[in-house]
Amino acid sequence: MRTVLVVEDEPKIARVARDYLERAGFAVAVAGDARSALAQVRSAKPDLVLLDLGLPDQDGLDVIRSVRGGSRVPIVVLTARGDESDRVVGLELGADDYVVKPFSPKELVARVRAVLRRATDEAPREVIRAGDVTLDLAKLRATVAERVVELTSTEFQLLVALARSPGRVLTRAQLLDAVRGVAFESYERAIDTHIKNIRRKIEPDPRKPRYIETVYGVGYRFAEDE
Ligand code: CA
Repeated sequence: MRTVLVVEDEPKIARVARDYLERAGFAVAVAGDARSALAQVRSAKPDLVLLDLGLPDQDGLDVIRSVRGGSRVPIVVLTARGDESDRVVGLELGADDYVVKPFSPKELVARVRAVLRRATDEAPREVIRAGDVTLDLAKLRATVAERVVELTSTEFQLLVALARSPGRVLTRAQLLDAVRGVAFESYERAIDTHIKNIRRKIEPDPRKPRYIETVYGVGYRFAEDE
């Protein structure tokens, strides 16, 4: 059984999340503050962390930073409606997805499932090469011009989708689909943040991308070799 660590200081919300995730077949652990959350990430090794950003003892964004310092466990962030900048920063720091409060329990479970599915999918033995970008699907390893680049699983899947067919434009909706998010309109903007992160990691000059090109009003494409 897979374990979700719910980090939430409001008992009522924690209870709702726990109930629905348990009903969906997950084992659930709950932490009410950042300190116990970080301790449980280390000791209990959950399969996914559902993290409220408004915690009593520490900024949730710092918790993402600390977790990412030593673990690639998938993180789904819980944010209040209107906290868009937190959401974006959360993704930049390596969270995989977010759910806006008040959430529908069904949406919460769907997102947890989707993130877990893409994090734990058996990747086919395949290596994609596009220009000097090499993506090893079995090892989930990305190298750019011989340099190994650390990507989150979401970033890796996005880059795979783009690099599979250089020159082909993918819309945000298609990219969302590639990472198997639930294609709610508002979440398409999350793609832009992920792309920005990937560029920061692989582009020599992120302001003049040579790998991932923006196609204004449409989406993105992986540059064709010249
Ligand atoms: Ca809170």
